[in-house]
Amino acid sequence: VCDRRIYLHFKLAAVADRRYNFFMLELKHALEKILSVIPPARGELAALVQAHARITAEKIISPVDLPPFDNSAMDGYAVRSADLKAASADKPARLKLIGKIAAGSTFGGEVQAETCVRIFTGSPLPRGADAVAMQEDTQAGSSDNILFLDSVKPLENIRLRGEDVKRGDVLVNAGCRLSAGQINLLGAAGVGELKVGVQPVVGLLATGSELLEPPQTLAPGKIFESNRAMLAALAARAGAKTKVFPLVPDSPEATRAALEKAFSECDIVITSGGVSVGEMDFVKAAFESLGGKMEFWKVAIRPGKPFVFGRWREKFLFGLPGNPVSAFVTFVLLAHPAILRWQGASRHGGVALVSHSGILAEDFVNRDQSRPHFVRVIVDEQGKIRSAGVQASHALSSLAAANGLLEVAPGAVLAAGKIVSVARIDF
Ligand code: AMP
Ligand code: MG
Repeated sequence: VCDRRIYLHFKLAAVADRRYNFFMLELKHALEKILSVIPPARGELAALVQAHARITAEKIISPVDLPPFDNSAMDGYAVRSADLKAASADKPARLKLIGKIAAGSTFGGEVQAETCVRIFTGSPLPRGADAVAMQEDTQAGSSDNILFLDSVKPLENIRLRGEDVKRGDVLVNAGCRLSAGQINLLGAAGVGELKVGVQPVVGLLATGSELLEPPQTLAPGKIFESNRAMLAALAARAGAKTKVFPLVPDSPEATRAALEKAFSECDIVITSGGVSVGEMDFVKAAFESLGGKMEFWKVAIRPGKPFVFGRWREKFLFGLPGNPVSAFVTFVLLAHPAILRWQGASRHGGVALVSHSGILAEDFVNRDQSRPHFVRVIVDEQGKIRSAGVQASHALSSLAAANGLLEVAPGAVLAAGKIVSVARIDF
């Protein structure tokens, strides 16, 4: 009898859970939903020196070959390799020096048999030469002669025109976050400015009558507000221009006024706190009273379940939970991709977090059957993954110590030794 009662109890709890879960969106559906309503990016010109981490708005085709001309890979002498066929330290070959090509200059003459031309790294190869002998393999001979202590193969120490990039090759695709290396490639091809996605203005609001900020001092029941600065850092890294708004006390009027002001000045508004189920959670109601449309509320993740995504005209609300860890996790999983997509980032250009693989140094267990747990972890230099500490959603020291987020699926037991991939959050 006792067993049956326990069984029934569990069964009812499971049904209740399932009904409750019905209202929670799965993470991937939540992300799809968000990305599907972000409008196409607007483009603007940016100077190449200002373009780092911006999202390319156009595919860029190389107008030139790289290298643009055959040139030397070494400081040395341009030669005909046939002249040095028999050269060795014991029997050096002797060639007549007929000129010099400094970087940026050219040589009008031609390298004929038994002659050579002084050349430097990057200098254009003179006509007639088919190789460069390294300076280290030569000695100055008498008067205009150079002694060569080694042979060279045809094309040795030569960089051929177009061997790196051909005119017409794609230098970067549209929708990519420009890296420093890509900037160099574009610069080398003579691109001085390019079209990139306009950056959204992202407003940051923190709700909660318990929140203080310096120079105020702590008082009973109060805490220092810490989400806006964190979210400003994360939003800026995603390419946003950030605006931090004053603290919002828990009242319908204050919340509505703060949202109205933020929406009038920003493309995207990110709030923290006030989206849970308590009677002091005013964000959803205030947003709707302004005419905003809630797209969804609650995502099946831990931490971070209470999360609101809404639209107000062509603007967007990300209502993050107030617990700082929940705010962090929902931001990086849902708002970060959205801010990048707003600037035109493609799926391939990387709206998602960067992942690394590593090996679990301990077991990770998610007893929750309904939500994946995003665990704060430390990935060490050997790629070994450990918990970063206490995983409660208010625990800030483990958030500060973590450099990765490990997704542990509902009900999963990940054993030590398993190779997994971890999202990087060391930014
Ligand atoms: P809420 O989502 O408003 O119910 O807040 C959940 C928890 O997060 C509470 O303990 C709040 O005090 C805390 N919290 C909310 N907003 C912030 C904030 N901006 N900075 C630090 N803690 C916060
Ligand atoms: Mg609150």
